[in-house]
Parts: sequence; structure tokens; C-alpha cells
Amino acid sequence: MIKEDITEIEQLLATPKCIVIVPHKNPDGDAIGSSLGLYLYLTKLNHNVHVIAPNDYPDFLKWMPQETSVLKYEQDKSMANDLIAQAQIIFTLDFNALKRVDEMATPLEASSAIKIMIDHHQQPEDYAKYRYSDTSMSSTCEMIYNFIEMLGDDDSIDEEIATCLYTGIMTDTGSFRYPSTTSKTHHVIANLMDRGANNAEIHNAIYDTNSPERLQLLGCALKNLKVIPELRTAYITLSQDELNQFNFKKGDTEGFVNYGLSIENILFAAIFIEHKQEGIVKISLRSKGDFSVNEFARAHFDGGGHTNAAGGKSDLNLKDTVEKFISILPRYKNALNS
Ligand code: 5GP
Ligand code: MN
Repeated sequence: MIKEDITEIEQLLATPKCIVIVPHKNPDGDAIGSSLGLYLYLTKLNHNVHVIAPNDYPDFLKWMPQETSVLKYEQDKSMANDLIAQAQIIFTLDFNALKRVDEMATPLEASSAIKIMIDHHQQPEDYAKYRYSDTSMSSTCEMIYNFIEMLGDDDSIDEEIATCLYTGIMTDTGSFRYPSTTSKTHHVIANLMDRGANNAEIHNAIYDTNSPERLQLLGCALKNLKVIPELRTAYITLSQDELNQFNFKKGDTEGFVNYGLSIENILFAAIFIEHKQEGIVKISLRSKGDFSVNEFARAHFDGGGHTNAAGGKSDLNLKDTVEKFISILPRYKNALNS
């Protein structure tokens, strides 16, 4: 983000404004962490702020500071539409294409508010007046930290803000192990701990609150794991029946795809999860090295994301989706073996 933009945003924020903050659909730790971190910061500056998520998110995020203030568009459209229509500034966080908020795209497009995008995904769209887009960033939460720092306000980062930002950096970096984790990320984390983020408590709240059913669902997923060694690929399927059998709740399959990637010599992993209600198969893709799952998801599964973590969907049934995947793979043989 250039200095002139920061100066202009600083002027915008100099007087109280009606502000709406929007994370992407099916928000994850980074989306909710960045939204709540920014919400807490802007509220401190006396703005009238609302976080509106397109839909609900997993229970393991529901301990976060001020989490109960988040509105879900799906559950309260008329109030959300009013807030969006009244907003003077709209921040869109952790996504860069309006289709990532589904039907919420319509009121956002209609709104005359000044839009500010803060995001670390590839190929950003052009809907925002101000765009802080940096694909080298570990997470949107790290960018929110930088944003507050660029505004010269890092002293206002208190324990609650630090907790939110720590959470999103931790979840988006796989607890600081993905290549997107830089020394700068660790400096930011150190500062957040100095400001009160409790690393052990946050880790516990996110990762050590499994239900027995969730672990049994993981067992089922791992049983379904298939490996294609010559293409260095592993994939998992979960049917709606299997999800039902283990009393599936939102977020239960988070992280499952990574097990495929933990196999020796595997550098491409996928999980296919049947969503009967939506009539789609949701797909998560992960890779190691230069193999771009962002490109793969864009080319074949109406999705996108980052080089090493992306998602998409398929309108085919589960079996046909997997068959399509397997039939496409050989085209990538060289890339997967280089
Ligand atoms: P996940 O597989 O954990 O849902 O998502 C991995 C990454 O890809 C995240 O950064 C997420 O925002 C992005 N992503 C997931 N699904 C989609 C999708 O359908 N479209 C696009 N453009 N990005 C996605
Ligand atoms: Mn993110």
C-alpha cells in the first residue's frame, strides 16, 4: 500500500464513520481474526463498526474477543443490507473477488461506500478504491498488523486485538510452518505476545477442543485416503453419509487435507467433501513447492487461492468429481515430478 493511500485513509478515519468489515464465505481463523482485530481497533477510534460474515463459521472460532458481535448475512439479511447501505467505508478482508461472498456481492456492489481491500490471495479484482494486496504475506492478520503500524497506531494494539491477530497468523501458517512464514511474521508474533496474546491458550482453544466424533470422522477420512505415487498425489473423499454418520459440524474437516501432504514424496493433496444440500462437492487442494494449486483450482474447479493452498467446487457428484480429478492429473505429470 503506497504512502499516499495511507495518508488518505488516515484522513478518512480522522472523524467517526459508519464502517462495515466483510470476511469471505465460510470464514476461517484468518478471516475472522483479521475482521475482529480491525473491528476492535476501529471501535477504539470511535467509529461505528460492524463485522458482517456471509455465513456462519466453526465453533472453534467462537471464543474470540467480541466474536458475538459478528453478524451473519445468511441469518439476518435485512439488517445486514441496511448496514451495508449506510456504510461510508467497507473493508473486505482475506478475499479479493466478490464472488467469494456469494449473494452478499450484490449489496456490496450497489454500495457507494469507499472500499478498502486487505488480502493476500493471488489475482485481485479491481472493486476497491484502496487495495493492500500482497501475496507474499503469511496472512491477512499480519497485514492488519502492518496496516495499523502504517497508520502509526501500533501502540493501540491491546490484548484483545493481539489475540485476534495472533490467531489468524497461527491458523494460516499451519502454526508457523508454511513457507509463507517469514522472520517478519515472527517479529509480528513476538510483538503480539508482548501486547498480551497468550500463545498456549490460543493454540489450545483452536486445536485442542475436538469432539470424539470429529476424530472418528478423521479416522474415516484417513481410511478413504488414496495415493497415486507416480503422480505424487494423495486424495481423500468424504460422502454426505459419512459426514452424517459422525454428526458433522462446520469446521470438522478443517486440516484433514494436510494429512495427504504429510506422506513421503507426496506434493499434491486434495480432499473432496460432498455437500448434498448445496448440491456441490467442496474441494480443498494443497501442494508443496512450485506446483500451483491456485492455477489448478482456477482451471478445473471454479476456485482459487494461493500457490500451495487453494479451494474450489464441483457440480458433479462425488464419484464423477473424483473421476474428473484423476483424468486431469496426468496432464500435470511433469510438473508433479520436477
Ligand atoms: P480451504 O481449502 O482451506 O477452504 O482454502 C484454502 C485457500 O483457498 C484459502 O485461502 C481460501 O480462501 C481459498 N479458497 C477456498 N475455496 C475457494 C474458492 O472456492 N474460490 C477461491 N477463489 N478461493 C478459495
Ligand atoms: Mn488468509
